[in-house]
Amino acid sequence: MSATPLLDYLRGVIRAEGPLTLERYMAIALGHPRWGYYATGSPVGARGDFVTAPEITQVFGELIGAWCVDLWQRMGMPEPIILCELGPGNGTLMADLLRAARVVPAFGRAARLHLVETSAALRAIQARVLHGAAPHWHLSLESVPPGPLLLVANEFLDALPIRQFERRADGWHERRVGLDAAGTLVYTCDPAPTRDELPDWPVGSVIERRPAARILARDLGRRLAAQGGAALFVDYGYFPPAPGDTLQAVARHRRHDPLCDPGGADLTAHVDFADFAQAAAAAGARVWGPLSQARFLEALGIESRMNRLTAGQTAPQRSAIESGCRRLLNETQMGTLFKALALTGGGTPPPAGFE
Ligand code: SAH
Repeated sequence: MSATPLLDYLRGVIRAEGPLTLERYMAIALGHPRWGYYATGSPVGARGDFVTAPEITQVFGELIGAWCVDLWQRMGMPEPIILCELGPGNGTLMADLLRAARVVPAFGRAARLHLVETSAALRAIQARVLHGAAPHWHLSLESVPPGPLLLVANEFLDALPIRQFERRADGWHERRVGLDAAGTLVYTCDPAPTRDELPDWPVGSVIERRPAARILARDLGRRLAAQGGAALFVDYGYFPPAPGDTLQAVARHRRHDPLCDPGGADLTAHVDFADFAQAAAAAGARVWGPLSQARFLEALGIESRMNRLTAGQTAPQRSAIESGCRRLLNETQMGTLFKALALTGGGTPPPAGFE
């Protein structure tokens, strides 16, 4: 653990307040405005810390663009339509989406682009990549203007902070991050059981909860029910609910100890799709899926899109496109672990791929 300003800051907070919940630790390590992970680097891409589907192949964003246009048409082409992305990263998905959507020029005229992004560094990249689409930025969904909505989010939920609890004989105990005598960050656990209601799993189990995802599901569910539209979430995670510690740190495409480099490594955890779906449904949204990413992309026609793209290309270009698509579909890579879930509301018809 090398000395960094963020580590000093965390030590100070822990000395003043006692051990931090994992939720608080993750929020600071990722989101500290000056030294947090998303404030400092360019996390996504071949030269960043991790690679996401839109950075692997343009086909991903193009298929989602066709998904949006199709649904917009079947919604009766409302104008304006709020086109929103949560956590756009380098802006690649949205650029590919908008390019594919150009086949229906009326969609481009109707769409108002709103990006929910906390990182100033990534906002600057998005401004460059998406300048033609005149985006508006927001710190949360709350300030996105009302009206019919089409929302997309890839690898957004996995970045929202989690809490973790350990099952002991007398109940669930919340895990925290404290300091040992040498000032090193270490895991600790609340001595008293939590009063949160959690399922009855065997002693020794670990369970994760993600309050920010539940709040988002509730707010989005209410909004879709009242104003219409759809939201598409693609992320890695589990369905049905499963016990287990899924917190992971990644830097330069390699796994790290989540406590060893706060601010220097990306911290994520698997998404609990059942929990997210249940919170959205309770708020009035209709839930579609989750489907595996492979099934979803196959239903959207990834094969024919790939064939059209590779036609007339040189052999190396063809094999680059094909290997990118295979990586998204392959069971041992992203095909099964990644899942797609959609929410709709207010009489919006079933979204493509989920009917
Ligand atoms: N969707 C992109 C990037 C995924 S990385 C892709 O698929 O390549 C996660 C993104 O979410 C980053 O843009 C990060 O800055 C943003 N982010 C993380 N936590 C956030 C929060 N609480 N509010 C808004 N944006 C957040």
